[in-house]
Amino acid sequence: MKLYKIKKSKIDKNGLYAVRDIRKGTKIIEYKGKLISVRQSEIDPKFDNGKAIYLFKINKKYDLDGDFKFNTARLINHSCDPNCEVFGSGHKVWVYAMKNIKKGDELSYDYGFSYDDDYKNYPCKCGTNKCVGYIVREGSRWRIKNKKK
Ligand SMILES: [Zn+2]
Repeated sequence: MKLYKIKKSKIDKNGLYAVRDIRKGTKIIEYKGKLISVRQSEIDPKFDNGKAIYLFKINKKYDLDGDFKFNTARLINHSCDPNCEVFGSGHKVWVYAMKNIKKGDELSYDYGFSYDDDYKNYPCKCGTNKCVGYIVREGSRWRIKNKKK
């Protein structure tokens, strides 16, 4: 049973939307990609931007490169108040519901970008109450809030 569909998003181009109510903890979609060795991801210029949006750490040896058209999960947008989280089990990566999601809600997760000087290149348009205006992982958002004061 499909839990999501692709739809135009207010956050950024397309997004994934729940087509039915989804319970917290549900596996929603596999984050598909190709396994590459950590060594390879370190030397490949493709990932040399400091923000490897589609790159997930699998273990010490492997990363998962999800930057492919067949990886529908890559359309999920970042939110400062996300309803999903992404984690690996074995060599696979899944998107899970981290709270109960209502039919029609856009799926989102925290991209986990670190805070550094170029965070301003990654504005966030999630529009939630918690939005700090930039795509920065939750643990670092206080730095931006402090700057605003
Ligand atoms: Zn935001």
